[in-house]
Amino acid sequence: MPDVTGSDRQFPRARVCVLRNARIAACLAEGLAFEPEPDAFALCDLTIDNGRIAAIDRPGAEGAPDLPAFDLDGGIALPRLVDVHTHIDKGHIWPRRPNPDGTFISALNHVAADREAHWTAHDVRTRMEFSLRCAFAHGTGALRTHIDSLGKQAAISWPVFDEVRHNWKGRIALQGVAIYPIDLAVDDEPQFAALVDIVARYCGVLGGVTYLGRPPGEKFDLALDRIFLAAERHGLDLDFHVDESASPDARTLGRIAEFALRRRFPGRIVAGHCCSLALADGAERDATIGKVAEAGIAVVSLPMCNMYLQDRGDRTTPRWRGVAPLHELEAAGAATMVASDNTRDPFYAYGDLDLIEVFREATRILHFDHSQTPWLRAVAATPAAVMGLAGHGTVGPGRPADLVLTRARSLNELLSRPQSDRVVLVAGQPIDTTLPDYRELDALLGGSAV
Ligand SMILES: [Zn+2]
Repeated sequence: MPDVTGSDRQFPRARVCVLRNARIAACLAEGLAFEPEPDAFALCDLTIDNGRIAAIDRPGAEGAPDLPAFDLDGGIALPRLVDVHTHIDKGHIWPRRPNPDGTFISALNHVAADREAHWTAHDVRTRMEFSLRCAFAHGTGALRTHIDSLGKQAAISWPVFDEVRHNWKGRIALQGVAIYPIDLAVDDEPQFAALVDIVARYCGVLGGVTYLGRPPGEKFDLALDRIFLAAERHGLDLDFHVDESASPDARTLGRIAEFALRRRFPGRIVAGHCCSLALADGAERDATIGKVAEAGIAVVSLPMCNMYLQDRGDRTTPRWRGVAPLHELEAAGAATMVASDNTRDPFYAYGDLDLIEVFREATRILHFDHSQTPWLRAVAATPAAVMGLAGHGTVGPGRPADLVLTRARSLNELLSRPQSDRVVLVAGQPIDTTLPDYRELDALLGGSAV
């Protein structure tokens, strides 16, 4: 049984109980009956009734009923977090298919080879389940994954994803996005139309990789036109991989924003990566950021994967961090987020779908610290809103008692340690946070660890 305090006290199993002296982030709190202190965190007592947060009061509020209690002793209680950009269909293939030199092109080629050789329904399902068990144990409550959807893979992976989404209902809310080179919409119209049908049938999101090594031109515009049209016809949201490169030719983000504005696109749009925007000159960068904000495009940065892939050279030291200019986007009014991206595959050798790790690394890589922006929203409330998930990413009366309880009393304490002793509550009860053993994958991956 999890023990939050380090003492021998147990978490109460009562239907109604109180979490005493919990610190909740003011930027993630909703519907409080009192005004939180202007600090980042507010000290509260949370009453849990039948799996939901019934009330949030100041500690020791007068007239509070005498209920079974658990004292967090000032520890931070976060909502379960929301991972808006992952690839759980690729996850954990590293022992079978490592990236030999850590470059983007090797990642593309080696994932393609692995997909051709191994991605049966069983292979994809097993790795998806393993990934979700990691995410769940770390305290993730909702997750969006891109799904490789080129050629025969779409008909294999989407039904598996649908099955997995059903299995995980009530534990992790799942969304799927079709990923493919956007040229497909021009080069192979029948395959693109079939893919759109699959995405619509499985209530997915239409995506695509928009930078294919050349500046946007006529073909790019035609492809984007067809993708927007398909999304409009089927009522789909869009979620692109955008300009994941240092190249000055990687300039598709502004074009996507122009399309969205011109067409008055009614759905939500997410742009992932947007690395090259950080290297654009000031005027060009500001103009693109202005269009992105005006079009209501949400931007997700993937700092761990970007640090791994961007600016990698042979025997050279990286000179830039590879991440999108999130501070500038946020200041312009765009919704900004960070997420896991790949885990243990050729695009990123490491990672475990742990959003506390992602937020800790993002704080260091993107300088979330020493900032007036409440960046915790970037892994919780903002992605929940972008994914259209009511009840996720915030803490408030009436919300499910889905919480991540830590011993950390401040952001400094939260980010200085990995929080391996965190307790995850789902519907008011602690879950087993034991991580799955990599050895479980040995048979699938053809041997032991690399
Ligand atoms: Zn990605």
